[in-house]
Amino acid sequence: MSITSDYVIETKDLVKVYKTGKVKAVDGLNFKIKKGEIYALIGANGSGKTTLLNMIIGALYPTSGEISVFGYSVPKNRRTTSNYIGVAPQEYSLYSDLTLKENVRFFSRLYRMKKPEFEERFSELLKILRLEDKRKTLVKNLSGGMKRRTSIACALIHSPKLLFFDEATVGVDPVLRTFFWEYFNSLKEKGITLVLTSHVMDEAERADRIGLMRAGKLIEEGPPQELKAKYNVESIEEIFLLLSNGVIVDA
Ligand code: ATP
Repeated sequence: MSITSDYVIETKDLVKVYKTGKVKAVDGLNFKIKKGEIYALIGANGSGKTTLLNMIIGALYPTSGEISVFGYSVPKNRRTTSNYIGVAPQEYSLYSDLTLKENVRFFSRLYRMKKPEFEERFSELLKILRLEDKRKTLVKNLSGGMKRRTSIACALIHSPKLLFFDEATVGVDPVLRTFFWEYFNSLKEKGITLVLTSHVMDEAERADRIGLMRAGKLIEEGPPQELKAKYNVESIEEIFLLLSNGVIVDA
């Protein structure tokens, strides 16, 4: 693939067929994400979102096709690209019998962060995420929203340039969701790129661009306002329902 610095992520004809699967979980996918963009990947259950993200972060080998992250070919250079990438783990990926701080320290070690560097960044993040009084609390005793914020701290501890959120704000109340979005936008202003998946359509509408997947393919993409104008609808949810059910394929 020709490496361009204009895009943080670029995929070309990307395909994934699981060994045990009969269908293409990702089917010839081409997409590009620019620096500082907030990109929401939407699609029905099983449409291939998680598979795609796992290939981009280097956790899953593609069957065929190419992936470039910050100009590096993945999975070949995944050790390098993982330094630039933050992945907010799902709640179940946190260690419930460890404290909030121990969980974040665990992640920081994966990035070979030294203790003083970790302490400084950790304190900064706890302040931003309003978790200062919870640092010594066992994760199992945190509320759902606090666990979600802990997972964000894990993802951000090494100051990544590209952030992935699978099911960004699942189980999060509207106040906290608003806080998250203010925070996401502040990261964007710093040039950080965010890729999130969501089943909450009014949330996806807050992204700069939306990509809609169906059966492993990216069948629609664009800024929310442009998509709504194209389909002459009031909400992204309507587009989701139309396209996911196959009523409209080409508008
Ligand atoms: P959801 O919204 O439910 O999280 P998704 O869009 O993230 O779904 P994927 O989890 O990527 O979709 O699944 C895409 C397809 O790949 C589905 O048909 C799924 O059954 C299949 N699949 C996912 N993981 C595996 C696996 N480990 N082995 C075999 N097939 C899998």
